[in-house]
Amino acid sequence: MGFDHPECPQRLSAIEDQLLMSGLTDWLERRDAPLLPLGLAKLAHSESYLEQLQRADAQAQTQGLVRLDEDTAMNAHSWTAALRAAGAAVAAVDAVMEGEVANAFCAIRPPGHHATRERAMGFCLLNNVAIAALHALEQGAKRVAVVDFDVHHGNGTEDILAEHPAVLMLGFYQHPYYPPGGAQFEGRAHLCNVPVPAYTSGETVRSLVAEHWWPRLEAHDPDLILISAGFDAHREDDMAQLGLVEADYVWMTEHIKAHTRAGQASKIVSCLEGGYHLSALGRSAAAHIKALTI
Ligand SMILES: [Zn+2]
Repeated sequence: MGFDHPECPQRLSAIEDQLLMSGLTDWLERRDAPLLPLGLAKLAHSESYLEQLQRADAQAQTQGLVRLDEDTAMNAHSWTAALRAAGAAVAAVDAVMEGEVANAFCAIRPPGHHATRERAMGFCLLNNVAIAALHALEQGAKRVAVVDFDVHHGNGTEDILAEHPAVLMLGFYQHPYYPPGGAQFEGRAHLCNVPVPAYTSGETVRSLVAEHWWPRLEAHDPDLILISAGFDAHREDDMAQLGLVEADYVWMTEHIKAHTRAGQASKIVSCLEGGYHLSALGRSAAAHIKALTI
């Protein structure tokens, strides 16, 4: 995204460091992220938008950084990274649906939940989670849930999933904040994004989540749960002003696991979104991954 940009490569190193320090790496099966076949990107994005990204990629190959909006840019490697990020989410869905692994975490950049059907925004190019959710439906899942605990509203995911009631979306987001406007589809029962004011504590977020998310998740009874795992609601992350800590991410992860069907593998695919305070990001992601594994 350019120098001094918060969406930086060190974010993945911070997660890697914490996985090493926690000893979790010995327990994880690692896979490289494959490139997403372009046809699968069309599940969530228009042809004209994908052509725009490919033109920007061609331009970046010769001119360096190409701006897509005021805080989103592409360099010569961004398109490949975006295809690998979405490719990881799709491969993880396949691995989980086929029972090869119980759950998966995709340590990916760039993030995806602000990318709408038609446009890049908020550091996001391809909507990794929306592509993975729609791919899961194509592969035979009857119902899917997307849980978005990033501090920002997953406006792109909401935009893409608006016409797909088989995918339940659950989120909370600091409001008013970025992106402007808040939830746009108030009347759709399958979209439940709860606005919370700045300086809300983790305890209050937990009670809102318990009230709004869990009954809907139970009623939807999904075959697969995708998590838009942003860790920028952490109280040390000054990208926003919420008060979550590692224990809150563990609590949400454990509850999401508890909603999987009795006697069956949990089938959760979690994809990294935001999280910009490197230490808080690494600690929170490692705690989340640990909760997914046990
Ligand atoms: Zn965010």
